[in-house]
Amino acid sequence: MRLALFDDWRLGVVEGDLVADVTDAIEGHSTEWPYPWIPRMIANFDRIRPRIEERLASSRRLPLAEVKLRPPVPTPFNIAAAASNYKAHAAEMRTMMDAGRFGGTAAPPVGGGAPSESYESALPDVEGRPHGRRGEVFLKSPTSIIGPSDTILLPELVPGKEVHHEGEFACVIGRECYRVHRKDAIDYVFGYLGLMDITVRGEGDRSRRKSYKSFTPIGPWIATRDEIPDPQDVKVNLYVNGQIRQDAHTSDQIEGLAEVIEYASHCYPLMPGDIVTTGSPAGVGQIHEGDRVKLEIVGIGDFTVDVESL
Ligand code: MN
Repeated sequence: MRLALFDDWRLGVVEGDLVADVTDAIEGHSTEWPYPWIPRMIANFDRIRPRIEERLASSRRLPLAEVKLRPPVPTPFNIAAAASNYKAHAAEMRTMMDAGRFGGTAAPPVGGGAPSESYESALPDVEGRPHGRRGEVFLKSPTSIIGPSDTILLPELVPGKEVHHEGEFACVIGRECYRVHRKDAIDYVFGYLGLMDITVRGEGDRSRRKSYKSFTPIGPWIATRDEIPDPQDVKVNLYVNGQIRQDAHTSDQIEGLAEVIEYASHCYPLMPGDIVTTGSPAGVGQIHEGDRVKLEIVGIGDFTVDVESL
């Protein structure tokens, strides 16, 4: 099931080019921030899904082109984000930094080595699946979220700094998840969506460089877990002004979604409605005022955001 939020925080089920309004299936629906019915719906979806399916038969349907899609999870507690999780992207970042760009000298590690020292506490191995590299998982501010038809706003930057696109495959957590093992981690996933991890390149705190207002466009909707049989078998494409810039497959990730959830949840609980994003593939690059950036997650859908100056 593809669950969209649209217009005045209506709940919709996407069917082809139409969205069916099933808001009436939600007790306690509200149009006021912080929309507490959304994480409650996610946490109780097994009970609510039959009610939604019942409403579907008679609900009004609107063309998707005529509604304003909202961010499908507007107020998560956490956005946990994997860094440098594709070898080709880690390599391109090393190349950029070795060339002296962005004032950076600390090239990110390329995967495949020993467990990182930053992974400070031990977890049991899975038989036949030894620990590899432990990448960083950082937090983005949830108030950087915008919807799939909103606009990225570029902040004023000192010379030499650039804002880059990163097109990523992300999940929404379905139930509280703390210290979950990778072999169980996908059981805690509610569904999947696309996420742009918009980034100021350069030195300084990663969370700040990636948390400017509008730096986390998400969408176009949530595809529930049953729609994606294998999160490591998903195609991710990002286009700028119609030209493909990132052309990737989640099988190329250094650490899969299960490992990212395991690692993040080993430190802090992930809650229903929280977002975990799996990192950018290669092909990152600068975005400019006037650009149109499109992210497509094959099997879910696509969305396009404009770029303007703040
Ligand atoms: Mn990223």
